[in-house]
Amino acid sequence: MNAPLPPEVLKQHLIDPEICIRCNTCEETCPIDAITHDGTNYVVDPAICNGCMACVPPCPTGSIDNWRLVLKTEAYSVEEQFGWDELPGEKALPDTVSTDAASQGEEAAFQASSDGEDTDAASAPAAFSPSGATIPPWSAAHPYVNLYGHKTPAVATVVGNYRVTDDDTDSDIHHIVLDFGNVPFPVLEGQSIGILPPGTDAQGRPHHARQYSLASPRDGERAGYNNLSLTVKRVTEDHQGQPARGICSNYLCDLAKNDTVQVIGPFGNTFLMPNHAQANLMMICTGTGSAPMRAMTERYRRRIARGTNGRLMLFFGARTQRELPYFGPLMKLPRDFIDINLALSRDAEQPRRYVQDLIRERAADVLTLLQDTNTCIYVCGLKGMETGVLDALRDVVVQSGQDWTILHDVLRREGRLHFETY
Ligand code: NAP
Repeated sequence: MNAPLPPEVLKQHLIDPEICIRCNTCEETCPIDAITHDGTNYVVDPAICNGCMACVPPCPTGSIDNWRLVLKTEAYSVEEQFGWDELPGEKALPDTVSTDAASQGEEAAFQASSDGEDTDAASAPAAFSPSGATIPPWSAAHPYVNLYGHKTPAVATVVGNYRVTDDDTDSDIHHIVLDFGNVPFPVLEGQSIGILPPGTDAQGRPHHARQYSLASPRDGERAGYNNLSLTVKRVTEDHQGQPARGICSNYLCDLAKNDTVQVIGPFGNTFLMPNHAQANLMMICTGTGSAPMRAMTERYRRRIARGTNGRLMLFFGARTQRELPYFGPLMKLPRDFIDINLALSRDAEQPRRYVQDLIRERAADVLTLLQDTNTCIYVCGLKGMETGVLDALRDVVVQSGQDWTILHDVLRREGRLHFETY
């Protein structure tokens, strides 16, 4: 049984800055805006957080799941947390505090800082996510996560670095292959890794890790080898279009064969593909968001001979065909293996099209897949596409006279609708 905490004690929610990969998932998920960030750390405001746990399952690293028993009057402020390089240890509470409850530490029921309501975190159901599932499909393989952290990164060797967009375009996207030699680094399609770029930021701190999705399947970029691949776009401007040099993307795109790279992870335990025979995949991506789609497609391709694959349907958005990563290899895939739909937004020959336009155009086939309980849907790429894709899926379902709210809820609860957008 969990006893309530003494009224003066707070089980403070904290984020481990050493493990956090600054992916913004927690800040997006928090339903009451208790999570914020500066240029260094993601932090939880003790005055707002009510311990609802919504942010915990979606966190790819587990860095979000840290708690300290503190006196409410001595809770770590947001400003203090911004300055941390590592989490503080547990502090002993004063003897005057009843330790019966406080000594239960990790198992103590969370006492909400605002209204004193108790929530048994351990038995909380999968948290509500506004768009996607917070659990993997039922047949997904069990992932390994957090095997290597900032203090103990794995070292990988670059065995390949190729540009996968046409040379005469602004989109400089690279396919980078990293080999782990005899260092165990087990991964699944849909997982990501963190890269530690060398050097320090303006404050002299080591750069924090940047997260990249795997573009290769679980058995390696080259089947049977201990390697994996990433899809990395060289960042040359900021969100306002001003010239800016992305620290990690430029580091990665400039790597030469035999260079070594520090890697942490793997991360992610929900954006995972189903393993059961006949599972269908609907993959919706833009630009470098194609990385996990390539990984899953290749996994399916390698088992064509088993004859157990379900249907693959891909919606892929890029500015032009020449800026669409992996265009050549993609076009070589048999049409009866994968149903490919390319949405080009800046093609001189045709009007602008986004992936959501194509979803509407292919409504009948999309609906057939949506109605099949073997179908899992993956959306990866630009943040802006999330709403557009959801609206398009809703329109397809509603036009057929069905209730999207119910289907959307089922897809989330069954771990069949996944988003990874930035
Ligand atoms: P991009 O080239 O900027 O855009 C790809 C396409 O998406 C373009 O045709 C673009 O059209 C279109 N688009 C823009 N807004 C859209 C919207 N609201 N709905 C649908 N389509 C829209 O893409 P990118 O630079 O490669 O960026 C891809 C994103 O994926 C990045 O945010 C990246 O962080 C993320 N990501 C990367 C990885 C990885 O491992 N590398 C993994 C996961 C996610 P217009 O620009 O012509 O309007």
